[in-house]
Amino acid sequence: MNKRLYNFSAGPAALPLEVLLQVQSELLNWDNHGFSILESSHRIPEFIELTERIEQDFRRIMSVPDHYHVLFSSGGASFQFSGVPLNMIRHIKRADYFCTGLWSQKAINEAKRYCDIHLVAQGNSSGYLEIPDESSWSFSEKAAYIFYTPNETVNGVRFKKVPKSGNVPVVSDLTSCIFQENININDFGIIFAATQKNLGLAGFSVIIIRDDLLEQALPDCPNCLNYKTLLQSKSMPNTPPTFAWYFVGKMLQWIESQGGVSVLEARSQQQGRQLYDMIDQSHFYTNRVSLEYRSMINIPFFLKDNTLTTQFIESAKAAGITQLKGHKTVGGLRASLYIGLHPDAVKALISFMKNFEKKYG
Ligand SMILES: *Cc1c(COP(=O)(O)O)cnc(C)c1O
Repeated sequence: MNKRLYNFSAGPAALPLEVLLQVQSELLNWDNHGFSILESSHRIPEFIELTERIEQDFRRIMSVPDHYHVLFSSGGASFQFSGVPLNMIRHIKRADYFCTGLWSQKAINEAKRYCDIHLVAQGNSSGYLEIPDESSWSFSEKAAYIFYTPNETVNGVRFKKVPKSGNVPVVSDLTSCIFQENININDFGIIFAATQKNLGLAGFSVIIIRDDLLEQALPDCPNCLNYKTLLQSKSMPNTPPTFAWYFVGKMLQWIESQGGVSVLEARSQQQGRQLYDMIDQSHFYTNRVSLEYRSMINIPFFLKDNTLTTQFIESAKAAGITQLKGHKTVGGLRASLYIGLHPDAVKALISFMKNFEKKYG
């Protein structure tokens, strides 16, 4: 294989070529410091300055208000499935969760170790093909927080709005949709996102937390997961994944060069719609998710004749298109349209799908 394929990976995801080339060009000598970022201590002024610049860029791009902190943590989103309850349940040992797909299910399983979990809504009866209607939601009288997953990466469903109940802080796992939709940070108590979908590498997360929520950690919350410790140590309670952090900085610069979140949101909507239109107009392909809850980012689809799925994946690869296999819990196919996707990738996929249908349909 001597060329880069159109890559629809669900994560770690395709990265913008410009960013990869820039990282490559400075891999041996980072910013003319005379050494690689891979060889740099996290304690030197050059690295501290980098992290400060990254925080500023992040705040500007996401319009983060001053009373929110931007923190970075080792470990991916699954670590925050533990981090969130451990940091929030000192006084109220109960939390409200939406169960709307694989990732929220995993978050619930983890939180159950630490506190009572109340399910506001359970999407499993539909096979996670829709978000349960608001009229069926039941919030607790008293909960430490409300947890939801705005975009369910595996099942391809998304919330239409932020679910709220009174003043209970809302916690959102934005891993698979950060920067692909404009959000109002003031709607949330905590936002977290692992970085391997829209911000670069795996094993690292960004956390945005409202200042007044920093006093609710359990006394035995592990130090490296404690958000107050992260704040006090400038997100360096131990050696951070320095390369992943640096890569976030490169992605933020790229996001601004593209025009910011509004441009990426419009691009994402347009690409998603093109692919759904193609699927919906065909008698050969199908997407089962209820129309109003369809994710514009993760699009699972099936061949009506399931026996052709392997052939589809192989032919796609031969046509220069890869990583389309559906998640093992769902099967079929899935196209993930994250921000680093090649600009021609969706067009190429649609054209391949039409040809494949002509041949086998
Ligand atoms: C990918 C993903 C995760 C898992 O992230 P890890 O870094 O593997 O823990 C969690 N939540 C959502 C919404 C995701 O898309």
